[in-house]
Amino acid sequence: MISKFKPSWMFQDIYHVSPEFLAGNHIKYILTDLDNTLIPWNQSDGSAKLADWLREMKKYGIKVIVVSNNSYSRISQALTDYDVAFVSRALKPLTFGINRAINQYSLSRKETVMIGDQLLTDVFSANNSGVNSILVKPLVNNDGWTTWFNRFLERFVFQLLKKKYSDIHWQ
Ligand SMILES: [Mg+2]
Repeated sequence: MISKFKPSWMFQDIYHVSPEFLAGNHIKYILTDLDNTLIPWNQSDGSAKLADWLREMKKYGIKVIVVSNNSYSRISQALTDYDVAFVSRALKPLTFGINRAINQYSLSRKETVMIGDQLLTDVFSANNSGVNSILVKPLVNNDGWTTWFNRFLERFVFQLLKKKYSDIHWQ
């Protein structure tokens, strides 16, 4: 059961995820969470740094698709300045949104990675969909979605993973 929460890799943030790393692991497609992964949950849009990162991915032919539980209007507002496809109301931790992106864009699961800041939604849904996963640290700590209980649960699962797997470390 705990293996369902194990990320394939862990990075400080998306900016540490490079085209070279992805190519080295035969990844061509990125599905990514929005809030606290690409953009702080309490901001309406992204940064110049995000624009650079997206440009870099495009240059190397890596397709980026946002898969978010948030609403169509929140996501389209946040991504106004970027040319990025997205799936809204993804229903993570269920696999619905990831599968929709995979089918809609004809992605190969082995060549796809889901990036997100939550073990319980992003990583869990990725593992259940048969795609790779990258856990990143949340961009801001004081996020809106989390209740005290969710944070507690997330920390608990992380401790279990650290106990069980020797390769749990931030790159
Ligand atoms: Mg998030």
